[in-house]
Amino acid sequence: MRRQEYLRPLLADRPGQVGRDRLEILAALIAGPSFDPVYRPDIITIPGGHPVYRWACVVADCERPRAGGSDLCSVHQGQWAGESARGVGMAAFVTAADGLDERVGSREAICRICPGRPAAHSDLRLCQRHLSRWTFRRNEAGGAGQGADFALWVSEEQPCAAYGSCGVAICPSLADSPLGLCAWHSSRYRRDGAPGRAAMPGSWWQRYERCGKPVPLEYADQAAFRRWCETVSAQPWPGQVNLRGLRPLVRAEIQWGLFVHAQRARPTRWDLGWIRALVTTCRALEVNSLVDFEFGAGSSPEFTGAIAKEILHELRLVYFTPAEARDAGFLETEHFGVLFPHRMSHFDLTSIPQRWLRDLTWDYLADLLRSPRCPRSGGPFDGYRRAALELGVFMELEAPGGGHDPAVLRGEHARRFVADQRHREREGQESLAVRRPGGAAGIVTVTTRSVVFNAIRKLLRDALDTGVADKLGLDREFITALPAAGATTGRTARRPFPDEVARALAAEASLAELAAAYDPSDNGARDIWETTVTTGRRIGEVIKVRWDCIGRYGGLAMFWHDQTKVGNYDAAIRIPERLYDVLAGRQRKTLDRFTARYGYRPAGAQRSQLALFPTTYRSNDGTVPLTHQWFYSRFRPWVDAMDLGHFVPHQARHTLATSLLRHGATLTHIRRYLGHVSDRMAEHYVHLSHSDLENVLQHVWVAGPGTASPGELLAGTAAPLSQAEAQALAVDLSRRSTPAEGGFCTWQPSSTAAPARGTWPR
Ligand SMILES: [Zn+2]
Ligand SMILES: [Zn+2]
Ligand SMILES: [Zn+2]
Repeated sequence: MRRQEYLRPLLADRPGQVGRDRLEILAALIAGPSFDPVYRPDIITIPGGHPVYRWACVVADCERPRAGGSDLCSVHQGQWAGESARGVGMAAFVTAADGLDERVGSREAICRICPGRPAAHSDLRLCQRHLSRWTFRRNEAGGAGQGADFALWVSEEQPCAAYGSCGVAICPSLADSPLGLCAWHSSRYRRDGAPGRAAMPGSWWQRYERCGKPVPLEYADQAAFRRWCETVSAQPWPGQVNLRGLRPLVRAEIQWGLFVHAQRARPTRWDLGWIRALVTTCRALEVNSLVDFEFGAGSSPEFTGAIAKEILHELRLVYFTPAEARDAGFLETEHFGVLFPHRMSHFDLTSIPQRWLRDLTWDYLADLLRSPRCPRSGGPFDGYRRAALELGVFMELEAPGGGHDPAVLRGEHARRFVADQRHREREGQESLAVRRPGGAAGIVTVTTRSVVFNAIRKLLRDALDTGVADKLGLDREFITALPAAGATTGRTARRPFPDEVARALAAEASLAELAAAYDPSDNGARDIWETTVTTGRRIGEVIKVRWDCIGRYGGLAMFWHDQTKVGNYDAAIRIPERLYDVLAGRQRKTLDRFTARYGYRPAGAQRSQLALFPTTYRSNDGTVPLTHQWFYSRFRPWVDAMDLGHFVPHQARHTLATSLLRHGATLTHIRRYLGHVSDRMAEHYVHLSHSDLENVLQHVWVAGPGTASPGELLAGTAAPLSQAEAQALAVDLSRRSTPAEGGFCTWQPSSTAAPARGTWPR
């Protein structure tokens, strides 16, 4: 069922496509100059250290292939198991380990005497026949106490007649016996139970080959032997993907898929073994195109399925022009050169029932993709799709003619849709149209209803402005009846953490718990959180920092980051020493892990471009950071386990802001320290902390107004402060405020270590 969903456009019968043969399209692309020639031959040979399809062991200069799914060859894996038990780190291990030469027999070698026979011994490079002759000669000479002269012996030997190529249809190797199979396929033949019982006659060497006669083969069932030769898979030479025997279209699809996958910014890991399994399955099932590929078939369904799926996504881009995609009801963001973070290129709009509404949505989204206002993430696109879907499905049920004719729609129909959404929101009812990933209906909430209202309004207002509504004959009143979402939108958690929550979330014991229980492989959940708490950065800004995000300037510890949300790049703020140490420790861990994974220690520009918190998969160069989802999936259960209530990481920013205000910082300071803060948010902070007045009260009163002696002065003079004096004191306090060590209350009024004015970055 999931398969149908994204294959639908490929499976659909499209008469417009006549004459545009898919194979022709792919053949033209593969022959094009931008295609990587590595993927062109029918036997693809990948270099061992390939950036995406690397198959060589990670130890420097080790020429052996990785053992199934790991990064080390089997020998190094064995050694590493012993070393790690003794407490040696992976980074230290790969740095110290010596590379191994390629395993004997890991590529085809030819006998040094016979040009047509494969070598059976790769050091001596001798075929089976010459190897036994040499062994005999050496034993003879060894009896006399003298080593036989190999070079002399070779020069006296005669080449033997070739056995031809391996009889397996797709095998490029030489046969090593009159049976007509290469060494690998000979043993494979025996393992497969020798179908057809092909065999050489007894004493075949003495009776036939020795006298130069062809060796007649004996079969119980020659047809069965032939069938086996036609269907058996290729020898998995290291670095090789053998595409022979595939149908031409599926062959081109896999070649194109391998090429495009290697072009991706964040390719998933595709081990050559998994690709081979896909190829073998397609060959065995005589698949014509990956479109027909049955997921779950073959020996490793999980990986081959994932690979086939990704190739299909790429093929859709190739097989469809944007106009054809619009016709088929989907949008490919990559047709416009846009790929949203963590998203596929594909946006399915086929579930919007009315063709006019679907096209309207498609055109609007396509315009957005072309414009400089194009959103940075796929979120807004989801909103537009959801809005059009909710309206469309509602009209299908309630509007005249299912809403398929825009000319009959009136204001009342829009108003009924609005009322229906509000009703569902109030009653917590299910959405008519939207399903959650599990298949259950989505619930209409304040948020979803607001998204729907705002998006559908924008969509249709735009149609009004551009004259599209007129062309459709869509009543102006239908559009104007759709309201904006109103003040209920964006009710995000703008509150700071309550004191006890703030304390719990920054206490050493709970931080240790976060690291130990929720991030056992230590990818940095605790460090990310501590940095967020201390600096008040947005979570995304912390997760995405580069390896060289810390530095000292004039002796002060600084933290560099990108404020992508507001387009402010490479901003720096001061951080406390403690945090500096935490981040420096993370730098070391990240470097060690990189070394362990890639076999060398990066330096210079490469090192500085690494992600400080790199993702553990989907990255082949250590520059891709962890995702928000990764962090939330650690943060949420951690907070839930403390039974504090529902809190989100972003509240740390508000907590720090109000804390700063409470401790005497001014709004100017806040803006400087937190980066961009909207006016609305700034007002909110001031409101929360009562700013100056509270500062004055806090530092001037001994105790709050509710105590026994309210109004008693903190120090010195007996006379109460005048308003001017109080204000002066407040100003003075805020000027002397400076970041200090510790959790949320990073700022304290302080007379030491205050940076001179003007030394604050930005
Ligand atoms: Zn190795
Ligand atoms: Zn030979
Ligand atoms: Zn073979």
